[in-house]
Amino acid sequence: MYIDDTIAAIATPPGIGGVGIIRVSGKDSFPIVNSLFKSAGTVPLMERQNRTIQYGTIVDPATDKTIDEVLVLLMKGPHSYTAEDVVEIQCHGGIVPVRQILKLLVNHDVRMAEAGEFTKRAFMNGRIDLTQAEAIIDIIEAKTEDSLSLAVSQLDGTVSTFVKDIREQLIAMIAHLEVTIDYPEEDIEDVTSREVREQLAPILQSMDDLLAMANTGRLIRDGITTVIVGRPNAGKSSLMNALLRENRAIVTDIPGTTRDSIEEFMTVEGISLHLIDTAGIRDTQDTVEALGVERARDYINKADIILCVIDGSTPLTAEEIEILTSVSGLNTIVLLNKSDLGHIVTDEDIQRYGTFMAIERISAKGGEGSHVLAKWVQELVYGGRVKQDNSAMISNVRHISLMEQAKGQIEQALSSIDAGMPIDFVATDLRGAWELLGDITGDTIRESMIDELFSRFCLGK
Ligand code: GDP
Ligand code: ZN
Repeated sequence: MYIDDTIAAIATPPGIGGVGIIRVSGKDSFPIVNSLFKSAGTVPLMERQNRTIQYGTIVDPATDKTIDEVLVLLMKGPHSYTAEDVVEIQCHGGIVPVRQILKLLVNHDVRMAEAGEFTKRAFMNGRIDLTQAEAIIDIIEAKTEDSLSLAVSQLDGTVSTFVKDIREQLIAMIAHLEVTIDYPEEDIEDVTSREVREQLAPILQSMDDLLAMANTGRLIRDGITTVIVGRPNAGKSSLMNALLRENRAIVTDIPGTTRDSIEEFMTVEGISLHLIDTAGIRDTQDTVEALGVERARDYINKADIILCVIDGSTPLTAEEIEILTSVSGLNTIVLLNKSDLGHIVTDEDIQRYGTFMAIERISAKGGEGSHVLAKWVQELVYGGRVKQDNSAMISNVRHISLMEQAKGQIEQALSSIDAGMPIDFVATDLRGAWELLGDITGDTIRESMIDELFSRFCLGK
């Protein structure tokens, strides 16, 4: 249910900064802020020009005490973030002014906004659809330039345009089928089936094309989970340090030692990498060995890339053979380390214990490893294709899953036609596809799902 009361939240991150912003939205936002605002002019905020900035102070009317000097931004609905009347109050960026102003608002019939409630209102008011709301989260959470530009194109409506276009074609077909159901004559049914069949082929093709790029989109959006495995002393920590030296992500640019940290973020080829050293998990968690190995397995199963570090300067140990077997057949790069000491382990020795994406020779201590990773990140994300623009690329797992299910329903419709099934079966399949696609944009989505989705936003957004 949609509530249109007036809400407010602190929109700037907690802490001290140049300015602090309190965002207010709802039908009474102008008069309420007006009752707390004092300026040289006497014209009330409601009568001032839209999209202007007003200078003044926030004053508690009960005590006449000035709380802070402010700038007030006026944005009348529907041309605002929420499509409601929005006022943004800019005060000095300390913790106290923003809190005091928010408190004052709450004492004057304003409710504290829930996480994501401003964006939810933009959705409820039809200003943006669900894919665009999700794009806003993605923009906020973007860790690389590529993931940012992907999110921006989604905000622009690339995904929704694609989905809406297919839905319109489907609904036209469904209508056509239903008319035919009402006038059941053998030959009309045949003609209709043939027509629908022809129209569905290009739709299915475009969905296939989109899904073919979905994994690329997902990796750009979510990054690559990279897991480092190997026996103690193989050189895992040295590798992690070598990789971080060149690629440490700006978002986690914390100075200091990296040795023995178990998780790090870095950027390679414009892709965010989440690097995990499984040995660290075993070391730092004070649990039985079995549990450590169990955890390593969990990470291996979730990994997009596995870096299996082997000491190439000494014969393979039983433990190394066991590790190799457990990562065989996955996206594993075997790194034969310590090449500076001379290698006695050969590619054939490794291949005896499984199939691997690549076997590379490095000296982690000599700072090597980055070039290997860059090459395989490129391969994994773009699959040999050249890096292209992000037009109509789906990246969100929710969208990918719904798109796959919708495609399944369309394929079902096609096989119903081929099997000579009554056309109401075909209509039902197409309706299913139409609904699933509507879940992507939020046109047919359930309320519980909407709440769940918006709760992932931060406060003030
Ligand atoms: P981990 O236990 O797998 O994390 O291994 P470390 O990274 O801690 O390395 C174990 C030992 O091997 C350390 O003494 C490193 O200096 C050494 N080491 C790591 N990589 C190389 C390498 O490429 N060449 C040589 N000669 N020694 C290395
Ligand atoms: Zn280590």
